[in-house]
Amino acid sequence: MSEHINKAGDLGQIREHLLYLKELGVGLVTAPDDLNADRPAVDRPGTKNELTQVNADLIATTVKIPPPDAASTIDKRSSAISRLRSLPRLSKRTDPAVMGTGAAPDEMIKKTGLTGDRSTIEAIEAIRNEIGQECSRCSLCSLGRSQVVNSVGNTNARLMFVGEAPGADEDRIGEPFVGRAGQLLTDIIEKGLEIPREQVFIGNINRCRPPGNRAPEPDEAAACKPFLLREIETVKPKVIVVLGATAAHNLLDVKTPISKMRGQFHDYMGVKVMPTFHPAYLLRDPNKKREVWEDIKLVRALLNELAE
Ligand code: SF4
Repeated sequence: MSEHINKAGDLGQIREHLLYLKELGVGLVTAPDDLNADRPAVDRPGTKNELTQVNADLIATTVKIPPPDAASTIDKRSSAISRLRSLPRLSKRTDPAVMGTGAAPDEMIKKTGLTGDRSTIEAIEAIRNEIGQECSRCSLCSLGRSQVVNSVGNTNARLMFVGEAPGADEDRIGEPFVGRAGQLLTDIIEKGLEIPREQVFIGNINRCRPPGNRAPEPDEAAACKPFLLREIETVKPKVIVVLGATAAHNLLDVKTPISKMRGQFHDYMGVKVMPTFHPAYLLRDPNKKREVWEDIKLVRALLNELAE
């Protein structure tokens, strides 16, 4: 009986820590069946012996716990339990003393809408403040914008997405890639790459909506782009996916058609850049989804390789 209670306690702790690992972004975490045995089937992520691969590409750490019915694995299981127990408790995970001195306090995350460590959030905030909500560095300030739409996401992201400029929904809500095209981008990130959207960093070359959703003029892009480049320098992503021809041309300073650029990595200051079609274009021509999927598979493979 007491052995049963102890086992239940161990399993509870393991499940708690697996959830914790998931929140930390630890990739491919597998667990024995009995960890999920008391959960309804619909609530069990993944297939047999597999928890959802939340963030397979971002962090290389893999924790594997042997199957419960293998008598010879008891020692290994004890060792796995002991490793998991050595992690800080879930209830203390937001304490900077536990997470490391660089952890951002909850109030900062709430105030900025950014996640990441304290110093990079502060750096992105400083860039936002420098731009200001009344920015008039280019003509888009007086062509009907509602607000400046800043980049969002995880300031320590290994993956970044760059578009050209806000559209009507983004201009109204104040966040990049919302609305139908934004939902498609979310699907690409969460279904294609199996990464929660909030764990990537997303921005645009221009932060104000061009009238009629026209492409930003070269002088408009030139005025705004330096802020994005500083964000790239701050976040230090390993890979950037650049969405659409205008953004790709502005970021990489080339004029090659997007159809010729996609499908291969380019270089921006040592960062691998994958140009692909803009989600808004995919809404107009769904046949292009297959090519985007090919590009995303290359991104996923590279992230996996870089994590090893
Ligand atoms: S697009 Fe950029 S540079 Fe131009 S007004 Fe907006 S924030 Fe300023």
